[in-house]
Amino acid sequence: MPELPEVETVVRGLRTRILGLVIEGVRVRSPHLSRDTSAADWRALRGNAVRRIRRRGKLILVDCEGGWTIVCHLKMTGQFLFSPISVRPDKHTHAVFVFRNEPRRLRFKDVRKFGFMCLRRTDGLSRDPLLAALGPEPLKVSLPELGAVLAGIGNIYADEILFESRLHPFRRAGDLNPAEVRRLWRAMRGVLRRALRLGGSTIRDFADCDGIEGEFQLEFKAYGRTGEPCPRCGRPIERLRLGQRSTHFCLRCQKA
Ligand SMILES: [Zn+2]
Repeated sequence: MPELPEVETVVRGLRTRILGLVIEGVRVRSPHLSRDTSAADWRALRGNAVRRIRRRGKLILVDCEGGWTIVCHLKMTGQFLFSPISVRPDKHTHAVFVFRNEPRRLRFKDVRKFGFMCLRRTDGLSRDPLLAALGPEPLKVSLPELGAVLAGIGNIYADEILFESRLHPFRRAGDLNPAEVRRLWRAMRGVLRRALRLGGSTIRDFADCDGIEGEFQLEFKAYGRTGEPCPRCGRPIERLRLGQRSTHFCLRCQKA
């Protein structure tokens, strides 16, 4: 599932491609994509330019003229692709954005169909249930908020951040000493920024707006490396169940 670096990669890609373009039309091809936005609602976007593209949590927010914001979640396999009109939509293409004086189209593809897209008024957005429950942003978080942030950061990045900070995955945020909390905070920023520079991680099918895959998966030190040597000490990486998910770590470098 795309996590923060992947979603941010998509947001940055969208900015360089559709910012300032005037929306001519939105064709929603699959009703499941848009929970509560009808074809008539989408027509409100016509003639409005894209003003701002941002990320909040894993939501992609596209602010348009007219006071509208497109809210989108990629979920498991959602992808935006900006490509020429000659590329025909396939059965996984659930929405197509057409822009004025722009021969390329923005397509939303989603093989697993868990992703969604809806239209909201920009001014009421912060109170919308989709956004109101989101926690603080990991790259803006202060030290005391750290525990809550790590809980929602996704398996890949949690494993890599704990490995970098040499903390055992079963440690509780509240029991860390100040030096450990600082280490964790530094590791979180370092790992997320590195992942962003590399365009996120592609495990199965994540790709940016040009269809290019991320490269951070080539640098995984713990995640998915069960039995392979720890890059720091050589001991095989362990895998343990932690509630519903599993975690990968080095028992020698990350003592309990
Ligand atoms: Zn180790």
